[in-house]
Amino acid sequence: MLNVAKFGGTSVADFEAMLRCAHIIKNQPETKLAVLSASAGVTNALVTLAQTFIDDDTRADIINQIRVIQHNITRHLDCEELLNLKIEQILSELKQLSDLQNTLQTAQTGDAILACGEQMSTLIFTEVMKSLDVECYYFDVRNVMLTDSMYGKASVDVTELKSRCQQLLLPLIEKGVVITQGFMGQDEHNHTTTLGRGGSDYSAALLAEATGADSLAIWTDVVGIFTTDPRISNKARPIPEISFGEAAEMATFGAKILHPATLIPAMRSDIPVFVGSSKDPQAGGTKISQTVDYRPTYRAVALRREQTLVTVKSPAMLHASGFLAKVFEILANHQLSIDLITTSEISVALTFDNPLGSTQALITQNVVEELEQLCEVSVEHGLSLVAVIGNDLDATEGLGANVFENISNVNIRLICHGASPNNLCFLVNENDANQVVKTLHDKLFVASGE
Ligand code: ASP
Ligand code: MG
Repeated sequence: MLNVAKFGGTSVADFEAMLRCAHIIKNQPETKLAVLSASAGVTNALVTLAQTFIDDDTRADIINQIRVIQHNITRHLDCEELLNLKIEQILSELKQLSDLQNTLQTAQTGDAILACGEQMSTLIFTEVMKSLDVECYYFDVRNVMLTDSMYGKASVDVTELKSRCQQLLLPLIEKGVVITQGFMGQDEHNHTTTLGRGGSDYSAALLAEATGADSLAIWTDVVGIFTTDPRISNKARPIPEISFGEAAEMATFGAKILHPATLIPAMRSDIPVFVGSSKDPQAGGTKISQTVDYRPTYRAVALRREQTLVTVKSPAMLHASGFLAKVFEILANHQLSIDLITTSEISVALTFDNPLGSTQALITQNVVEELEQLCEVSVEHGLSLVAVIGNDLDATEGLGANVFENISNVNIRLICHGASPNNLCFLVNENDANQVVKTLHDKLFVASGE
C-alpha cells in the first residue's frame, strides 16, 4: 500500500506544526512519500521579490524575514548549524536571483525565486522526520517533474514523470519515507519552473498517479471541505464524503482549499483523496472518490471572490460563424483560462478567476486591444461567483425557484447552468456575496435538514 501525503504551508509553518506532520507520517506506515509546500508566508515574500523593483534594503529585509521563519524551526533541531548552512546557500542564491530580477525582470528568474521556499521547507522537514528516528530521504522533485517552459504555470510531462518516478523515486520509497517539493519542476533547459500558486496539491496528485499510489492525503488547516465557508455561516459543516465530480466543481468554483487541477490525475487514475487538518488529524476529514453512497441534491454553496467579467459584443456575430473561435484563439494565445461563459446573439460574457498572488496581470491591455480588433470589449471587476454544488442539478424540478426565491432582492449579473449536473453558478456584486451565500446555505441545507 502506498499513500502520498501533501502538507500545505500552514502545516509546515513552524516547528510544532512540522512535528505534528512528522507524527502523522510516522503513525501511517503506508505514507511513504510526502510532498511539501513552503512554510506559510515564505512564498508570498518570494512573490514580492519576484515581482517588484524594490530597493536593496527592502530586499535584504524580505530575505531576512524568510531566514527568521526558517531559523525559528531549525533552532529546535540538533543539526541546527549544518541545516542553517544549507539554508544560507539557498538564501545566497536567492539574493543573487533577486539582484538579477531587480535589473532585468524575467519570468524564468521569477520561477527560480518562487521555488526557493519549497526547497527550504523540505530540507528542514527531512531533519524533523529523522529526529523521530524515521528512515527518511530528501528528494529534489526536479529530477522527475519535467515541465514545459511556461514559467509561472508550467505544464508537466506526465509520461516522463511516470517513467522517471519508476526509475528514481520508487526505489527510494522502498528504503524509507521520501520528502519532496510540491509546486516546482524543471524544463528541458534545466531551468526551474513552477506550476502556479497553490500548485503543491497538484504536484502531489501527479506524483501519486506516477508512483501508482493507492491514496492521496492533502493535509491542510481545516478538517476537510465544508458545506460553505464557516466564516460566512456558522451553520457550515464538514462534508464527510464527496464525489470527484462535485469536488472538482468545488475546487474550481469554491474556496481555495484544493488547487483546481488536483483532482484531474486523481480522477483519471481513480485515486481516492482525503482532505484533513494536520492540526487535528483525529478529527476526520473529507473523503473524495469516484462514487459515494450519499448523493444529496445540495452539497455545498461555494464562493469565489475577485472575478473578472469580460463582455465582448459585435453585430458581426449576428448569424455569423467563427466569431467565438476568434475570441477563444486570442484568449488561448494569452494562456487565459475561461471559467464561465454565456452568450446572446451578438455578445458573449466570459469570467476569469483572479489567481491570488499571481505574478501576471490577468486581462492585460494587450488582450483588450487584440479583442477590440474584433468587437467592443468591456471589463468589469468587483464581482463574486456563487456556486451551488450538488447532484443531478440538471434534472431537479424547482431548482431555479429553490435557489433564487431566497435571494430575490439581489441583482444576478450572470447565470450558468446545465453544463454540469453538479453545479449551478452565478455572479453577484462583491458587496452582496456574503449575504447571498449565507442565506442560500442556511435555507438550502439547514431548512431542508439535508
Ligand atoms: N508554496 C506555493 C504557494 O504558496 C505552492 C503551494 O503552497 O501549494 O502557492
Ligand atoms: Mg494550498
